[in-house]
Amino acid sequence: MTNQLAVPAASALLSTAEAPKHEAFTGQMYIDGKWIESSDGQRFERRSPAHGHVVSSFPEATPADVEGAIQAAEKAYRHGPWPKLKGVERARVLLAVAQGIKARVEKMALLESLETGKPLTQARGEVSGCVDLWEYAASLARTTSGDAYDTLGEDMLGIVLRQPVGVVGLITPWNFPIWILSQKLPFALAAGCTCIVKPSELTSSTTVMLMEILEEAGVPAGVVNVVTGKGPSVGQPLAEHPAIDMLSFTGSTRVGSMLGGLASKNLKKVALELGGKNPQIVFPDCDWHAMIDAVVFGVYFNAGECCNSGSRVIVHESIAERFAEAVVERARQVPVGDPLHPDSKIGAIVSENQLNDILGNIEKGVAAGARLRLGGKRYDANGLYLEPTIITDATPAMSIARDEIFGPVLVVIPFSDAAQAIDIANDTAYGLSAAVWSRDIDTCLTVARGVDAGTVWVNTFLDGYPELPFGGFKSSGVGRELGKQAVEDYTETKTIQLHIGERKNWWLPRTAA
Ligand code: NAD
Repeated sequence: MTNQLAVPAASALLSTAEAPKHEAFTGQMYIDGKWIESSDGQRFERRSPAHGHVVSSFPEATPADVEGAIQAAEKAYRHGPWPKLKGVERARVLLAVAQGIKARVEKMALLESLETGKPLTQARGEVSGCVDLWEYAASLARTTSGDAYDTLGEDMLGIVLRQPVGVVGLITPWNFPIWILSQKLPFALAAGCTCIVKPSELTSSTTVMLMEILEEAGVPAGVVNVVTGKGPSVGQPLAEHPAIDMLSFTGSTRVGSMLGGLASKNLKKVALELGGKNPQIVFPDCDWHAMIDAVVFGVYFNAGECCNSGSRVIVHESIAERFAEAVVERARQVPVGDPLHPDSKIGAIVSENQLNDILGNIEKGVAAGARLRLGGKRYDANGLYLEPTIITDATPAMSIARDEIFGPVLVVIPFSDAAQAIDIANDTAYGLSAAVWSRDIDTCLTVARGVDAGTVWVNTFLDGYPELPFGGFKSSGVGRELGKQAVEDYTETKTIQLHIGERKNWWLPRTAA
């Protein structure tokens, strides 16, 4: 990298003591209410990206295992009690799951932190936050309903039922394993669906642990099944199998669009939550301190391995240099290091591949003429740590300004007026989220209405609530999770037309027969 010498050093790495002492988690698959190994006995291991030791191991599912899981879910849907339970009964089970998660926050958070590399303090917050998602889904299990039409004339009553869509395949990524599963599973269960879950092979522990909780909470056998292993062999059948009625996938745009194509070949319902290149648009009249904090938080939270990462800042040209200096200064102070260290804010990158991918993107940006202002290197340490990185003077055409990097890399692009800021914001394939920073309400609303994004934050960043729908425009996805429609997404409507009184014949009068 040509301008490396001018780059200030990122914060020193928080020292990693010896590898944490704990027993590796030995997971099994959960199929038809039974804990099983893979049918050929193969297992795979996951090592901590921060410490290098084995954290967990799981069966590598064979095609026969996946088939068994699909059959179990189909049987539970066609013949089991779950789809026919009263809403209140399903709600009670979901509430019991919420309590089960609450009781295991520490254990789940530790495994989540060790597998993902994210700070333990953050993982605790995410596991605890899942309790709210399950409780919210429980409320919807009781309140989601169809519709009735008493406006069709004296002889007709129209009833629109909401019935479960059927058997649902859920595929989840590694960056927020239990959180993303909890954006899907409780809502599918609230609707009365049965499910097959395929967690990321890098982070399967908390998904498997959740099955223990479901079992205790009284979820009947076959209603939720977990298959562990790699994407092409274990995940792809969930998109292709005719017995699966819906695929809900969160992950990369590349894999999501491929699976969406396969799923629509056999006319499944498809929900996709994919990548983002989310802009924060900064105007000179903003609350400066709040904005700088939110920019640093927005891009370095979860080491930038976040679909919602605020990875692009589009900043007014009159404040671009002041902004760059301030954000570099703040970013240098963010503590990076051992995820188990209580002060860590940025942990390890999830895998060597991911780390090299991020470094490659940085290199490409600098080669294209953007200016590296902070970081850009791997820490000289055993774990997979990357310096918080800032790149300024990017142009919208550079790949570093358009492609999702999925790491702790902020790219700064200047703009001259609001219309241009919106154009730059919209000039990517993505449309997941965005933010606008200004004290002027007209500016905020103009930008909020103009950007292609499923969520727009105004003078804040990354807040989230189960009540508010989440999802993306354009290549960031199809459909929405959360919100009061979250359960409806896992239903089909059925129209029932009830004739009242004597029906008028089409052809011969009644007496003629
Ligand atoms: P990924 O697409 O590589 O993998 C996601 C899941 O799909 C994993 O379980 C993986 O095993 C599986 N998979 C991979 N290849 C497959 C195949 N050929 N067939 C079937 N399944 C396959 O994504 P990732 O690296 O785990 O996660 C990072 C990506 O997820 C990023 O692009 C990020 O933006 C996105 N993401 C989006 C959201 C959102 O809500 N929009 C949330 C989190 C992550």
